[in-house]
Amino acid sequence: MSTVAPKTGPALKVEQTQLFINGEFVDAAAGGRFVDINPHDNTPLVEVAEATTEDVDRAVAAAKKAFPIWRKMAAAERGRLLMKLADAIEADADYLTTLESLDTGHPIRDTRGLDLPRTAATFRYFGGMADKVEGQVIPVEPGFLNYVTHEPVGVVGQITPWNFPLMFTSWKMAPAISAGNVVVLKPAELTPLSALRVAKLMSDVGIPPGVVNILPGPGRTTGQYMAEHQDISKIAFTGSTAVGKKIIQASASNLKRVQLELGGKGANIVFDDAPLDAAVMGSAFAIFHNQGQACIAGSRLLLHEKIADEFLSKFIALARSIRQGNPLDPSTEMGPLTSAGHRDRVLSYIDVAKQEGGNVLTGGKAPDNPDLKAGFYVEPTVVEAKLEDRVCQEEVFGPFVTVTRFKDEAEVLNMANGTIYGLGGGLWTRDLSRAHRIAAAIRSGMVWVNCYKRVNPGSPFGGVGESGYGREMGFYVMKEYTEAHSVWINVNAEIPPFYKR
Ligand code: NAD
Repeated sequence: MSTVAPKTGPALKVEQTQLFINGEFVDAAAGGRFVDINPHDNTPLVEVAEATTEDVDRAVAAAKKAFPIWRKMAAAERGRLLMKLADAIEADADYLTTLESLDTGHPIRDTRGLDLPRTAATFRYFGGMADKVEGQVIPVEPGFLNYVTHEPVGVVGQITPWNFPLMFTSWKMAPAISAGNVVVLKPAELTPLSALRVAKLMSDVGIPPGVVNILPGPGRTTGQYMAEHQDISKIAFTGSTAVGKKIIQASASNLKRVQLELGGKGANIVFDDAPLDAAVMGSAFAIFHNQGQACIAGSRLLLHEKIADEFLSKFIALARSIRQGNPLDPSTEMGPLTSAGHRDRVLSYIDVAKQEGGNVLTGGKAPDNPDLKAGFYVEPTVVEAKLEDRVCQEEVFGPFVTVTRFKDEAEVLNMANGTIYGLGGGLWTRDLSRAHRIAAAIRSGMVWVNCYKRVNPGSPFGGVGESGYGREMGFYVMKEYTEAHSVWINVNAEIPPFYKR
């Protein structure tokens, strides 16, 4: 247990720093611990137990033991526990949001205003879903009854990234356990704390031991071992495309199911008839919210040549006015990036842009404010670049947006669909026909019209191309976490005609 006294806001005791296996907080079998860093000032926040392969085996064994109990529990009862968890998360809001802001660098206004409510809403939604997954009766030949039930897949391994660690515990765990599965979840090693806190709340509300196990630890070894594990039936992964490909290979060990939510390079198209002020504000949210560390960020602004200059003068003024500061200060609008390594990677793209002839319109460096020098801050950055440039093709995953001008619909669609990714995209126009035409032609899992980055627990979330496959949320995700189980009954137990001799 350790005490952290942030410069702003109340002191916080980080209470959960061990692995969560079989309903208990325990040390790693090998006794290892790693240091979790506060990205605001690069100071150690706390030491956390580091899971190794031995701990994966322990967690999988606990999950296997819990599976028959959990899957046989009445679906409505599983749902009731998830709804109690949603209530517990809301009751713990002050603690959880402070913890998340300390660990990730997300401004507290975001963790309070978005991350926490979305986390509670997702657990509540899938609580309600538990007894809505209905089977089917198939109209087959007379004399036979064929019905289909949807059975949980078993032990599910879940691996999450560091950009929305609290929210992703709910996106991953809620549908899985709602459907009767049991879970071993490895949060990103940079941001393990909120998942451990949620585990404690799960225990408090009575979710049985072993149903959920949380293993902070390194991806290359512990995560890889999960992907290879013979007793894990499915891996649900959110993270980079490069690691997603490794997971597919590792999954061949036992042909486990794989669901991948990977990178993105979202096109955000502003037409000449766009509601301009809304487009400026919405486009700033699309890229700068969460310091641009979002797979669905609108990281490529495509501007119609007629409005490009007017849009840019407003957009750049807005970018320069964003308040960067201590994440725990309620007036902060942008915090630090989550790690030093990632800050360096984002800054390295400024050099790439310049080498390619890109024009840095604003930002492109760490802020001058001496109070922020120790942390991992990067100014909101806008770079004018061409479709084929690396900065328009590769995911930067920071407060870094490219701008490219276009003349007509054909040209902009070529740009919008001109990357390996296909996660989210958006457009701003007052022309209803154009909105439908372009929305249909953008190759991506999600499209937003006159808005950006909208998500809801009922609405399918996921990508095409190298953004991955499978869908989270809604009824769609329940198919990802269940197997169709088809049962044939010979109603009168008569010998069917074809068998007769
Ligand atoms: P990452 O791929 O490096 O790591 C993600 C997780 O995978 C971490 O928990 C990490 O420990 C683990 N991991 C690393 N190597 C592994 C291996 N060989 N085997 C198994 N697990 C391994 O990604 P990141 O840097 O943490 O996150 C940023 C990436 O995540 C970005 O590309 C972003 O677009 C993507 N992302 C996608 C979505 C989505 O829903 N599509 C959402 C958020 C983030």
